[in-house]
Amino acid sequence: MMPLSDSLIKILRNCTNLPSPPAIANKIIELSSCETSGLGDVADVVGMDPALSAKLMRMANSPLYAKQRKIENLRQAITLFGLEGTLNIALSFSLKHTDTDAQNSGLDYNLYWKRSLAAAMLCQEIGQRLQGCSKDSTFLAGLLQDIGMLALDKAKPDLYKNLDEQQKHHEILCQHEVAELGCDHSNVGAWLLSEWHLPAKIFEPVAVSHATFCEESTTDTPDISKAVACSCWLADIFISEDKDVQTVMLDAVSKAERITGISHVEFRDIIESVSANYSDLANMFDIEVDNPRMLEFISEQAKEVLILRNLNKIKETEHLQEAAAQLKSKAMELEEESRRDSLTKLHNRRHFDEAIMVEFDNSKKHRWPLGVIFVDLDFFKRINDTFGHDAGDEVLVQASQVLLKCMRDTDIVARYGGEEFTILLPGINRKGVEIACNRIINSFHNESIHLKNGDVIHVTVSAGAVVYQGEPCYKDWSELVQAADKAVYHAKENGRDQYYMSDQQEPSNVHQIAG
Ligand code: GH3
Ligand code: MG
Ligand code: MG
Repeated sequence: MMPLSDSLIKILRNCTNLPSPPAIANKIIELSSCETSGLGDVADVVGMDPALSAKLMRMANSPLYAKQRKIENLRQAITLFGLEGTLNIALSFSLKHTDTDAQNSGLDYNLYWKRSLAAAMLCQEIGQRLQGCSKDSTFLAGLLQDIGMLALDKAKPDLYKNLDEQQKHHEILCQHEVAELGCDHSNVGAWLLSEWHLPAKIFEPVAVSHATFCEESTTDTPDISKAVACSCWLADIFISEDKDVQTVMLDAVSKAERITGISHVEFRDIIESVSANYSDLANMFDIEVDNPRMLEFISEQAKEVLILRNLNKIKETEHLQEAAAQLKSKAMELEEESRRDSLTKLHNRRHFDEAIMVEFDNSKKHRWPLGVIFVDLDFFKRINDTFGHDAGDEVLVQASQVLLKCMRDTDIVARYGGEEFTILLPGINRKGVEIACNRIINSFHNESIHLKNGDVIHVTVSAGAVVYQGEPCYKDWSELVQAADKAVYHAKENGRDQYYMSDQQEPSNVHQIAG
């Protein structure tokens, strides 16, 4: 909150035509501070002003206060409003009529009152949804929040001149005031209302009506101040150009939603209700509604935009879920990648070791057979030496494909390192493993490897196999792998291009296959 400068206070004090409460309101202020006065006294005072009496009656029977029973006389109306409400209404109406001599000023009075009335109605509706607000003070505080503009227009008649369009944008208007005066009209308004001896619960919210509330600071903010601030943001909707309504509404509602905790769906109801009752009340206040279609338009926009906002929220959540799913799938991709060999795309040793660990335990527990085949390319070093390392790589890739084609989907084919491959065959017995070994040796007989440069290479492999069927001699899975590795050694020793079945009972088990 920016304090008023001494010079500004001096100008305001010297200004003879500042808006002031009419005599009747002053009387009610007096009555309200006198403990012995009752509603009867207020009725006597108000009764002296037929115009005000009529307005009070109309107000009492308006949709804003609609009760089941029709209000038939001033006494009932005053009982309905209470002392404070009557004072507030008397003030509201009379102020509207004190400033018709606006010819010489730059302030657009009709726009001012249109906005103030919208703010009052919004403030009251918002106040009803917040616990600490009384109905009548919210209406009055909402209505009077910009009274500083009237005072400034009187005290500094040039202030609002040449600000035509900008008067529809409250924030821009305030920036102009701050640039000219070092404070804005909320400070002037609060000062004026306290000069009128209005209660602090009215002028304090006015003083902070332009405060930009941040989330941490709202816990200490009285509800009525929140209601006034929100009504200030939302009131711009009612004086916006058609094309700006959506943007102004979205912006105002999201700010208001944040500081009040009232949902945007409720704000939709608030805006719709104010649009629906606005014309009636404007009529009572003699405010010209130049374009009644505008109110319908605002109501339609509230339905559309605030539902859209809901959809946007759903979209946002969808985006978040999508992003989370993408991250998850990326993580799974990375995990899968870490289990693959980068050259051949076969599973790598890490994956093979983890798989055999699980399968070995299963086998042991359920007495299922488990086959392991170790495959080593023959004389691979020579291939590298003759055709180059890149050609060697090509051979490794194609040899992997040959191996994959030999095996079933349930078998795990891995590159164990260099030109050595391992194959895990869960549930496959000795006979099945022998068939697989034959298939592997034969496949390399039948499939030549075609290099990119046109060279054709014939490759053979040696294999060692072991089948575990719960034999106690294999204490763990690594012994099984060692046995298979050792079996390859036998196959190599016996002339390569063959497989060797490791067998505890039979030491020699070399199988040569005719090429
Ligand atoms: P053996 O029949 O006894 O298995 O003979 P070998 O030449 O196949 O076996 P050795 O263990 O002597 O040589 C393996 C060669 O494989 C040596 C190494 O340079 C080569 N090698 C290992 N990894 C790769 C690789 O990723 N790419 C290529 N091009 N060569 C590799
Ligand atoms: Mg080797
Ligand atoms: Mg080799």
